[in-house]
Amino acid sequence: MAINVPETNRKRIVIVGAGFAGLILARKLTRLEYQVVLVDKNNYHQFQPLFYQVAMAGLEPSSISFPLRKVFQRKKNIHIRITEVTSVDTKNQKVFTPLGFINYDYLVLSLGADTNFFGNEHIAKNCIPMKSVSEALFLRNSILDHYEKALTTRDFDQRQSYVDIVIVGGGPTGVEVAGALAEMRNYVLPKDYPELDHKEMDIYLVQSGDRLLPGMSEQASAKARKFLEQLGVIVKTETRVTGFDGDFAYTNTDEKIQTKKVIWAAGIKGNLIDGLPEEVIARGSRISVNEFNQIKGIENVYAIGDLASMVSEKNPYGHPQVAQVALQQGKNLAYNFKMKLKGKPLRSFKYNDKGSMATIGRHRAVVDLPRFRFQGFFAWFVWMFIHLVSLIGFKNKLIVFLNWFWNYFTYDQSLRLIIKPSHKRLSEKEVTKDEEIILKK
Ligand SMILES: Cc1cc2nc3c(=O)[nH]c(=O)nc-3n(C[C@H](O)[C@H](O)[C@H](O)COP(=O)(O)OP(=O)(O)OC[C@H]3O[C@@H](n4cnc5c(N)ncnc54)[C@H](O)[C@@H]3O)c2cc1C
Repeated sequence: MAINVPETNRKRIVIVGAGFAGLILARKLTRLEYQVVLVDKNNYHQFQPLFYQVAMAGLEPSSISFPLRKVFQRKKNIHIRITEVTSVDTKNQKVFTPLGFINYDYLVLSLGADTNFFGNEHIAKNCIPMKSVSEALFLRNSILDHYEKALTTRDFDQRQSYVDIVIVGGGPTGVEVAGALAEMRNYVLPKDYPELDHKEMDIYLVQSGDRLLPGMSEQASAKARKFLEQLGVIVKTETRVTGFDGDFAYTNTDEKIQTKKVIWAAGIKGNLIDGLPEEVIARGSRISVNEFNQIKGIENVYAIGDLASMVSEKNPYGHPQVAQVALQQGKNLAYNFKMKLKGKPLRSFKYNDKGSMATIGRHRAVVDLPRFRFQGFFAWFVWMFIHLVSLIGFKNKLIVFLNWFWNYFTYDQSLRLIIKPSHKRLSEKEVTKDEEIILKK
């Protein structure tokens, strides 16, 4: 059955995913003569670059998430539907969800990407990813819960396994998590847990390549490593974590690190849905698009952001999967929808690379701009400013600013609450026959 969306005489654009790409596109379409249906599995937009601060108890989830309905209050041509899109029928122009299908004239897939465990089931089962606010919260709970457990554990090795952490992946996420964890260990935990020797807490950052931040300059990589080592992080390059059983992390260099927590920040793969022809799937996990973000061979279906792979001489593997690409593709597509209404030619997408940056605790960051590179205090200031202005909503900006201000002067994050779900999901064993019947209904 079709999901209830009002029928109008306007062409209908269905946008799946309200991340950086989908949200900016929908915002730019509010004044155009289209009916827009924005579908997301969550009723909020998430600002992923600050997930790690939620995980480190520096920010509340609500200050980096923004309710979609608030963004589009009084925008009559935008219809929000909260559900998960599972597949598409490009012939009959429908997308399918557990609530029913939605017809479209144009479809935009902006579903982003999820963690890639590269087919390793042990790692997928036991490692902690960080691709959503809920995963960041899970990490926060695990860290705090494990410190509590460490306090009550007599055996030295067992105690260490609760407090030592392995982070896999030396890209911006891994580097930022390692820096923030080291700061938490150095400044916050000695005050909260004086009975634990914080110097005994080891933080490992494991990177398969020969340097950290491979997407940035060699200067930035070297400086990031230096900053992390100054904070006491053990950096291991040219090393791969090959397994984690919940007690030990194993590497290809035959090391065995005792730990209960491995944070996986080592790769992403596009969120694909069923129904797309195989020939448009690029390198197993992205969708091949042309210079207008149209999916090859299906003119009225587009992919933008992390999910899209637009190959060119300059970008033989597609654009980097970063926020700026997603934002710029969303804006360009909005412009092209406007041109379509006017019957004018479409504009091809050109990426304007504004640079990249990563922060490593307080006063330390690395910034690569197209013409300049700098590191240290000024870079850290620039990093904070850019992230603050990029957040949606004045209230979020203010709350994040106040949190940072408070943490800066007090060396103290105020959000170290372990909030657990009030009831567990019933495991298969616990479900009785009668309950099974009820659950199936
Ligand atoms: C921890 C972390 C830190 C990062 N730091 C930086 C940084 O510092 N700088 C930078 O430039 N980039 C950073 N990135 C990358 C950046 O966040 C992404 O490039 C950007 O979010 C991509 O935007 P998008 O719109 O393509 O996808 P997303 O922003 O991921 O949005 C996808 C949306 O689709 C929805 N969705 C997914 N599947 C379905 C489905 N089946 N049905 C319905 N809805 C669905 C999701 O709920 C989500 O709202 C970071 C990413 C992470 C995870």
